[in-house]
Formats: sequence, structure tokens, C-alpha cells
Amino acid sequence: MLNVPSQAFPAAGSQQRVAPAGQSRNKVVLKPGHSLLDWIRLTKSGQDLTGLRGRLIEVTEDELKKHNTKKDCWTCIRGMVYNLSAYMDFHPGGEEELMRAAGIDSTDLFDEVHRWVNYESMLKECLVGRMAVKPSPALQGLSAPPSLRPEPLSAPLPAKDHRPRYDWFQTDGTVNIVVYTKRKIPSAGCAVVDLQDDNLRVEMLLGRMSYLLYWRLSSRVQDHVDVQTAHSVGKVQLCLRKSVKEKWTQLGQSLEHHDTFIQCKDRGLFYRECVLLSKTDVTHNTQLLRLQLPPGSRMQVPVGRHVYLKTSVQGTDVVKPYTAVDQMLIPPSQSSAEVGSDIHLMIKVYPDGVLTPHIANLPIGASLSVGGPEGSLTLRVLRDVTHLYMLAAGTGFTPMARLIRLALQEFTVIRKMKLMFFNRQERDILWQSQLDELCTKEERFEVQHVLSEPADSWTGRRGRIDACMLQNFLERPENSKCLVCVCGPAGFTESAVQLVRQLDFSEEELHVFQA
Ligand code: NAD
Repeated sequence: MLNVPSQAFPAAGSQQRVAPAGQSRNKVVLKPGHSLLDWIRLTKSGQDLTGLRGRLIEVTEDELKKHNTKKDCWTCIRGMVYNLSAYMDFHPGGEEELMRAAGIDSTDLFDEVHRWVNYESMLKECLVGRMAVKPSPALQGLSAPPSLRPEPLSAPLPAKDHRPRYDWFQTDGTVNIVVYTKRKIPSAGCAVVDLQDDNLRVEMLLGRMSYLLYWRLSSRVQDHVDVQTAHSVGKVQLCLRKSVKEKWTQLGQSLEHHDTFIQCKDRGLFYRECVLLSKTDVTHNTQLLRLQLPPGSRMQVPVGRHVYLKTSVQGTDVVKPYTAVDQMLIPPSQSSAEVGSDIHLMIKVYPDGVLTPHIANLPIGASLSVGGPEGSLTLRVLRDVTHLYMLAAGTGFTPMARLIRLALQEFTVIRKMKLMFFNRQERDILWQSQLDELCTKEERFEVQHVLSEPADSWTGRRGRIDACMLQNFLERPENSKCLVCVCGPAGFTESAVQLVRQLDFSEEELHVFQA
């Protein structure tokens, strides 16, 4: 629904379905004149998209059910009812996907597929009104405004002993919060800290789980947070400096979802304003952006996770995911900037895109709203892996970049690491010289380039992904444990997953990066 593909549609067995639940990616080709930008234009045109001429009404459950056809399609998301009829042809997941929401409360469906999409902004001209009746069990939570909707606790929670816990203490000038995560913390860290005014939000990203602490602090502090991580014992310590040296009687007042331990996918997205520090050309159409977090924020993005960039295009909020990378493939050491104080994103500029031309034109010093991080990779999948294979196409290389570094530096069990990198032309290859350099330095690492639109002078592999290419590439020596990671355009991912399965790799041996 809305502007990302479905995980639950099409039906299992359909030709469109390429990956197991949670991995599939389905986009349809939109008719000309139906891009996101065209939709934004339509919403600004003054056309009546609800059929109610601007009137907002209260909608009963029975009324909602009646509007269940393509030409008259209403849905309810978090208690607000929208007429989606005009949006049908603009939905990148296709109208059939959107019709799953027709006449019902689609909040859970929406959250499952793409809860990060800013539907309030995208669909504001489609707003019919609010649900009127006391919700039935199926509609529970509808009447609550979004911020009051409880975060679902869908996953069975780990035993109480596995829950992280926290403690705090103070000195004359500082307040210190210690979080005991009760598990090892990877070198990239796991803490996302945001101090905004007097509100302190601390999120620990622990595999699939998220532990949140959230307070309105008792007294003012300086807008800088120091974060120290003891990786092997799983302890994270935050140090805040008091604005006035006085004794605090309590840390603060608990805010929404304080001290909760739930699945990352169920946690609401949090945004902060970052400053664009630099833009460096990576290729003719791809830039490396360095964004500085606000002074009170620290973001340790776990490997393979992405963040969301949100910006206003003609008054409508547009949100897109981007995988965080490092400044280089293998940085010599942590850069001089304080760890977690800035993030790097590799962004390909599509001339007809909605967000990327806007980002490409942003001046240094401009601000950008960054949400997340999010993502499904947990390092558990790398446990005992001896052969790591990566199939990446275009910017689908970005999640592989940090994975390569992590695997080389921290997973000594991995004996072989091979990247097959698909691009159109040689000039499109991201970090080509760094990849080549790594190949010569690291015996365990190998890269093969495949071009789909090569120049005559190209002597390497040509074409698109096929069975023959993978047969030799994906070796399975005796006593090996393999993992194949895939990322790229939807059509590429679809083919890659099918081919890998045909070579008898199991679901556990396959990871598809999705945003
Ligand atoms: P591109 O269009 O330049 O294509 C790169 C290569 O992909 C081509 O040379 C070709 O070999 C292959 N390819 C493209 N379409 C194919 C198809 N239908 N079948 C088989 N092979 C195909 O790539 P791009 O513009 O850089 O796009 C990269 C994609 O990766 C984007 O869609 C982006 O959303 C996705 N991506 C996803 C994540 C993530 O999910 N975490 C991260 C980064 C990028």
C-alpha cells in the first residue's frame, strides 16, 4: 500500500511472489503520468478527491464497509478514514494490493507493509473523516490519535531475565545513565540517543528487539550526550552535563513507551533534524552525503540497517529509506568525528525521482530530517558462516559495504567472501578502486563485476544475473556453512532469489535486504 511494495501480496505461489513472507518485494509499472510527483501535483490541484467537497464526516463501521470497490474505496488508518479511489493508479504496489484495504480498518496491514510512509501528508486531500462508533474488537485503537496508540507487543517477549535494565547516578555536575543490555554489543554499537529540549530518548537496538528509555528530565542539561559502550559486557553508559550544579531528586518523568522492550518493527519511527556537512561524488550520478546529527543526538547504526530521509516536496512529506555506509569501504580507523555523531549515506540521483534531485541540490548546511534506524539483518545469521556470498546490483551494494568490513574485521571464521556486483556500465560501479584494492590486500575477499550495458572495450563479464553465473560462483565446499545476501532493484532481487533457491540453498542460507 501507499508507496512501498507489499510483503503479504501477491498470494503465495503467484509468479509475482519471489521471496518468503517478509522478504518479497512487489512493484507494478505505473502508467505514464502516475508517479509520486504526479500524485503530489494532483493533490495540490484543488480537485475534490473525497467526493465530499471538503466536508469531513463521522464514518460508522457499516458505512466504511460499503465503500469497497475500486471506484469507491475507503479505508481507515488509525481512526481516520481516507478515500483511496483517486490514488488507485498511483499506488506503486498496484491497485489489487490497495484493494486489500477497501472498506476495512487497514492499520495493521499498513504497519506491516510500510508504516514509515507518511500517509497523513500523502493522503491529506483524501481525508473523509473520523470513525464515529465505539470500535468493535477488530477496530480497537482506531479512535485514539496516532501518538496515543499503544505500540503493539506482538512478539512473545523474552523471559524477564533477558530484558535489559537501567540504573542512574549523579555527581555534582553530571547525570549518568547505565543500560545493561545483557548481551554482547557489536562493534558498530547499538545506542540511538536523542536529547531534544528536556526530553531524553534512548533506544537500544538489540537484534530484532528494541529497548526504549524515555524521560522528560527533571532539570536542564547541556545539549551534548557522551556515550560509552563496553561491548563485551553489554553495558552502555550515557553522561549528561547538568546546566546547574544541583542535586536532582529524580531523573525525570517517564514518557510514552518508557522502559519497553519490543520488536524493532513495532517501535514508532523517531526523527531528528540533521545538517548536511558534505557531498562527495562517488560516480557520475551517486554522491556520498555526510550528515551531522544534532548535538544532543548519537546514532550508532547497526550494520545492514537503513535510515529514512524525510523532506517536503511541494508541501507533501516524502520519505525514502537509505542504507547507512561508512566513509570508505575500510576506513583506517574511526574517523576523527565522534562516533555516532554523523552518518554517511550513498545516494544515487535519479533525474526523474522525487526526492533525490531535491537532495542533490541541497546546499551544504541545509537540514534534513532523518528517521530510524530500521532493518532486518541481525548478526546471528553470520554465526559460524564460513562462506559469505553477496549478490548486489547498483546501489544494492550499500548494505554489503558495511557487511564486508564487519565480516573481514570481526568474523574470522569466514574463510571466503565473494561479491558479484551487477551494474549497467563501468562508470556506475560504486567504490570500484576501493573494491579492487581490497581484493589485492585481502586473500579472503573476491569481487566479480558484471555489466549489463558494457562498452565494447569491457573485457569482464556481461549480461544480467543467470544460473550459469551463479553455478560456479556459489561454491559449497565440504564442511562449509554458506550465507547468500541479495540486494538490488526488485527485478534483480526476484531473479537472484529464484536462482539461489534452484541451487538448493535453504531459506536460512539466504538474506534479502529490503527497505
Ligand atoms: P540499476 O537500475 O542501475 O541496475 C543495476 C543492475 O541491476 C543492472 O545492471 C542489472 O544487472 C540489474 N538489474 C536491473 N533490473 C533487473 C531486472 N529486472 N532483472 C535482472 N537484473 C536486473 O540499479 P539502481 O538504479 O542502482 O537501483 C538499485 C536498487 O537497489 C534500487 O531499487 C534500490 O531501492 C535498491 N536498494 C535497496 C536497498 C535495501 O533494500 N536495503 C539498499 C540499497 C538499494
